[in-house]
Amino acid sequence: MNLHEYQAKEILAKYGIPVPPGRIAYTADEAKQIATEFGDTVVIKAQVHTGGRGKAGGVKLAKTPEEAREKAGQILGLNIKGFITKKVLVAKAVDIAKEYYAGLILDRVTQRVVLMLSKEGGVDIEEVAAERPEAIIKHAIDPHKGLRPFEARELVKRAGMEGNLNKLAQILVQLYHAYEGIDASTAEINPLVVTASGDVVAADAKIVLDDNALYRHPELSRLREEEAEHPLEVEASNYGFAYVKLEGNVGIIGNGAGLVMYTLDLVQRVGGKAANFLDIGGGAKADIVYNALKVVLKDPDVKGVFINIFGGITRADEVAKGVLRAMDEGILTKPVAMRVAGTAEEEAKKLLEGRPIYMYPTSIEAAKAIVAMTGGAQ
Ligand code: ADP
Ligand code: MG
Repeated sequence: MNLHEYQAKEILAKYGIPVPPGRIAYTADEAKQIATEFGDTVVIKAQVHTGGRGKAGGVKLAKTPEEAREKAGQILGLNIKGFITKKVLVAKAVDIAKEYYAGLILDRVTQRVVLMLSKEGGVDIEEVAAERPEAIIKHAIDPHKGLRPFEARELVKRAGMEGNLNKLAQILVQLYHAYEGIDASTAEINPLVVTASGDVVAADAKIVLDDNALYRHPELSRLREEEAEHPLEVEASNYGFAYVKLEGNVGIIGNGAGLVMYTLDLVQRVGGKAANFLDIGGGAKADIVYNALKVVLKDPDVKGVFINIFGGITRADEVAKGVLRAMDEGILTKPVAMRVAGTAEEEAKKLLEGRPIYMYPTSIEAAKAIVAMTGGAQ
């Protein structure tokens, strides 16, 4: 999960890293108001889930509140690499003497968190990385010892950084604590600014959280950018489903990502189009199937549902019970084609006997049937 710059900075600040004060504005007038309160030169910064905002015109200095209003007006609505800017960070401008780069990533090859450092930070770091990789030094951190202050001091020296090396080193240690503390997979400060007066501040921050560890951080999962995703995807993720909204009209529910993808392909092959991807996972009980149906049927595009279950650790009778509950509660108002095989298949068929559910012995037959029932090959 990607965080916005302002969210990442809030986290860094909690771990003791200095960041320029700033607030979020949704309108140009709000930006002006914040600039007035700061009473100083500010930067207006697009909050979108992509880097390279500076070069795309998404980061602008404003010397007066009126200028802040004007610049915010230009940035709000701006399309940066396909992301529309809906809010801006209005932050106090810092007097930049040097722009450095510091980043932590998980290196799967060495199985270590790797610290990357460069004295050539700022908006051109990608070019530096591509053209002069030697200008970026790398250090794999020992997971047992962590990043120790003396190592951090050696590293900032080795990177050729100037200024208050202790402060710089301390920020690296704090960045590592933050990275570990929130279970991040990436944490970058670019630029890490040394100001004209010798302070060190994080002027930009990028954090990617490890989705598999989000359950350990309920306060962070709330930061999920609800507006950036389809509302049904947000609802599905609250249920713990892997759900992706697609463009067709056949709702798909299956167990196991492989089977669900196969089901999408089958529907496509017989001329239909899937409305979604939904994997109920392994060992799903009736309530999970019921919730899956609720999510899929909330999509107004869905004209029918294809439930494809291979009973392994998932019991087919549990799936049937979930379907029955949805039916009894009046949620299941669209035709359903179903194929169940494997564990408790017979029990499932018995439970659904006499019910208006179309059962098929094979996936391909079920696919053809649901495509026919939802308007035929398109
Ligand atoms: P991006 O990396 O998406 O281009 P940044 O936040 O790094 O966005 O901003 C781009 C450049 O804008 C920075 O390298 C820096 O030179 C300048 N900048 C960003 N924040 C500030 C700030 N608070 N004060 C002064 N300059 C800033
Ligand atoms: Mg940056």
